[in-house]
Amino acid sequence: MKPYRILIVGGGVGGTLLANLLVRRLRPEEAQVTLLSRDGEHVYQPGWLYVAVEDEEETELSRPEKELLRQEVFFLHDEAERFDLDRRQVWTHSGERVPYDMLVIATGSRLDLDRIPGLREGAHHFYSAVGARNLQHALRAFRGGRIVIGIGGMPFKCPVAPLEFTFLLDDYLRRRNLRQQSEIVYTFPIGRCFPIESVAELAQRYLDERAIRTEFFFDIDGIDPERRRISSLVGELEYDLAVIIPPHRGAEAIIASQIGDEEGWIPTDRYTLQMEGVEQVWVIGDATNIPISKAGSTAHYQAHVVAERITAFVRDQEPEAHYDGHVQCFLELGEGKATLLDFNYEMPPSPPRPSRFYHIAKKLFNRAYWYLIPPGRI
Ligand SMILES: Cc1cc2nc3c(=O)[nH]c(=O)nc-3n(C[C@H](O)[C@H](O)[C@H](O)COP(=O)(O)OP(=O)(O)OC[C@H]3O[C@@H](n4cnc5c(N)ncnc54)[C@H](O)[C@@H]3O)c2cc1C
Repeated sequence: MKPYRILIVGGGVGGTLLANLLVRRLRPEEAQVTLLSRDGEHVYQPGWLYVAVEDEEETELSRPEKELLRQEVFFLHDEAERFDLDRRQVWTHSGERVPYDMLVIATGSRLDLDRIPGLREGAHHFYSAVGARNLQHALRAFRGGRIVIGIGGMPFKCPVAPLEFTFLLDDYLRRRNLRQQSEIVYTFPIGRCFPIESVAELAQRYLDERAIRTEFFFDIDGIDPERRRISSLVGELEYDLAVIIPPHRGAEAIIASQIGDEEGWIPTDRYTLQMEGVEQVWVIGDATNIPISKAGSTAHYQAHVVAERITAFVRDQEPEAHYDGHVQCFLELGEGKATLLDFNYEMPPSPPRPSRFYHIAKKLFNRAYWYLIPPGRI
């Protein structure tokens, strides 16, 4: 029998890990694993937060994708342009047709900077390498005034990142003796500072302690760069510097191939991670429509589940692995303290007392990522 052709599209956190797990589990006679990815570089996105507020070197945040893959993985450096699920093939930007027996879509999310009028010209963000560097420069030039932090739309990846940025910004302004002449305003589109209640309660205490003003139900609909105003249904806010998380969408190829919803998120079974109604197609990471945090840890746990399910399928066994909604991430609270959010579909997070321990653990994890996650050591 010929080996199964397994195609993974998207070589970020989920895709790279899954490719390595599969070639470790399956023999070459059982499966050939191809990773099709647009970027030759694998980026550690959580590091952008520190580029913006702590002058971290960006070069440490990316590595050539190929170096992270086991040699049994066939790496195809190209962009998927159209998914033809009926014929089990993917067309690439360079005109290649890539047939498959099993497909995993791991194309992540992308920023839609044109969704909000004035966003591109009027606001900064730290959700891309360029954005983080530009924000670093803007902060260095900042001499005091009002900084507004806001959300351009839900869902967005790493929902804790705007809070973390806010606390680290408070530290940053204190270090530069600018805090007294600055006002920090943290806005959020719903009625509290974070979607999950237990986390919102904890974070709100820290926001209050640091005299950070909050504005809720602040659903941004426009930015006026000339007048330096951000508008929402509940009113306007003037700013000297705006840091707005851009709206997120699924990959363009998902929308062009009409295999997702109108925002480009793919309907996915929350337990099996199979694409709804399509056999032998799975979806992991930011690309799914599952209403949980879009996070690297989500993609990581899901990759392990899909690796097990695909292995079972190849060996004609009943798949047993299910994704239980597990997400785990640190929350930086400034002043060298952090906590840990660990939760799943059934159990909301119950964050431990913030401490230096979790802050150091986060910093260590940032360094150890390359060694731990892409090769599948944990
Ligand atoms: C500032 C910031 C801080 C963060 N902090 C954390 C954190 O502390 N903890 C945490 O868990 N998560 C964090 N995240 C979120 C995390 O980085 C993402 O959720 C995670 O990378 C998603 O993994 P993924 O595999 O789904 O997608 P990605 O890692 O984004 O990878 C997607 C890949 O698909 C490729 N691709 C896209 N379209 C195509 C196409 N058409 N054809 C071929 N290839 C394609 C891309 O080039 C990319 O390589 C943070 C994100 C940001 C921006």
